[in-house]
Amino acid sequence: MVAAAQQAAPTISSLELFNITKRFPGVVANNRVSFEVRAGEVHALLGENGAGKSTLMKIIYGLYQPDDGQILLNGQPVTISSPQDAIARGIGMIHQHFMLVPSLTVAENVALGLKSSRGMRLDLDVVAAKVERLAASYGLRVDPRAEVSRLSVGEQQRVEIIKALYRGADLLVLDEPTAVLTPQEADDLFRMLRQMREEGRALIFISHKLREVLALCDRVTVLRDGRQVGTFPTAGMSRGELARLMVGREIAAPHAEDRAPVPVGPPLLQVRGLSSSAGAGGPALREVSFELSPGEILGLAGVSGNGQRELADVIAGLRPSSAGEISLGGAPLVGGPGERMAAGLSYIPEERMRDGAIMDFSVEENLILRDHTRPPYARGPFLDTARVSTVCRELITRFAVKTPGPQTPIKSLSGGNIQKVIMARELAREPRVLIAAQPTRGVDIGATAYIHRLLLDMRARGGAVLLISEDLDEILALADRIAVIHDGEIAAIMPRAEADPERIGLLMAGASTESLSH
Ligand code: ADP
Ligand code: MG
Repeated sequence: MVAAAQQAAPTISSLELFNITKRFPGVVANNRVSFEVRAGEVHALLGENGAGKSTLMKIIYGLYQPDDGQILLNGQPVTISSPQDAIARGIGMIHQHFMLVPSLTVAENVALGLKSSRGMRLDLDVVAAKVERLAASYGLRVDPRAEVSRLSVGEQQRVEIIKALYRGADLLVLDEPTAVLTPQEADDLFRMLRQMREEGRALIFISHKLREVLALCDRVTVLRDGRQVGTFPTAGMSRGELARLMVGREIAAPHAEDRAPVPVGPPLLQVRGLSSSAGAGGPALREVSFELSPGEILGLAGVSGNGQRELADVIAGLRPSSAGEISLGGAPLVGGPGERMAAGLSYIPEERMRDGAIMDFSVEENLILRDHTRPPYARGPFLDTARVSTVCRELITRFAVKTPGPQTPIKSLSGGNIQKVIMARELAREPRVLIAAQPTRGVDIGATAYIHRLLLDMRARGGAVLLISEDLDEILALADRIAVIHDGEIAAIMPRAEADPERIGLLMAGASTESLSH
């Protein structure tokens, strides 16, 4: 028989970590961290990139052994030797990148790895029935016979959760689960998590979205540099307080309300009827049109993989279009990336490690990467090395890049500092139009605030910014107008003042405009 899903009352009443230390070569990832999660609570784990959150969770899930410290499950000391051991003890984990096999059905994925003594076929029927029942008990519809590759990201996440529950998870760790969801899908997830809390399960929710931590979680444990800042009830806490605990200093949030209005005038960037064939893992672009004025930030909202990447690549000259026109400052924007850059376009690509920087090069080499044949770096045909060195040092200071020096390999910097180097390079040439794709994804909160300020500075100087982001909060905070892209088409464009997150969420999910007016 297939191991039966547990329907009995949860067996985990508490999990405690005492003075857990975990070292990696050159870094103490967890430094005497203590943490406790109880049945019937959602406990947030909050911290900047590299704070030690995933390491601590991997210890709970049996993927790492601590160097020091103790784990108590229901008050008893335990050693969690492997994920199989963790699962047997009722601990489940939803990783940020799903572990499902796309070519298999939902039921096959759930059955995968379960012990079986009967024929696979019989088992699958049992599993399928059980999956349907489990899903229904959370008010979800999941087709156990659907192939996983055909499911949306939100649906795949549900399957992951169902799979963990099927294995009897009474304690569930979720690593940044909302990063890939629309606001509605996130609401559905929260509803499911609240129900699990009511059933008496223990939940650990990793997120860097302060609003979600406050909306969903009962307590929050904050990690900074591998150390525990503290554990606090979320009731009565503000986002500002949480941010300060996380970074150890005040973070100034941008205020969209008190900035200058967008000046009226001819558009800087015009995109008309732009179409392209499918590629880069996304759909074909279908007659995309929009305008960007000087001094304006246009936010492009959408679930990842709906054509954002294709659109940015086509405008930047990295991918051909099949129809349509682009103009910058009234002149056609044509040719390769170099020509478009010379015309005043800069591009911060989504995959910064692959497309934005050369990892084996130094910070300085990355700063001059696209401009080394032009002033100020070149004098005639020669690289002016003294000038390069001076300008790069200035850029490092001006853009607050934390690096031991200009000659440091860029790969040894944190994600946020790599992004600052790319921003420095792209903004130093004072572009008229900037495409910023997911500029703060995976970037810590301090660097995020800094990057937001750079975008607002560019706007204040009369530049135009196309801000492509999956983070709706970021778009709402920065954009003057908001466009929503779905399946390669612009579903709607609206002024920020008229933007309703719920409507945007529905558009992101592909709801047609007609169905919204009902
Ligand atoms: P977070 O999840 O909060 O972003 P992590 O737990 O992933 O942080 O990382 C904490 C620190 O430990 C970081 O400095 C990271 O580089 C380091 N680290 C994590 N895993 C490993 C590993 N397997 N080997 C070496 N260093 C690691
Ligand atoms: Mg992590």
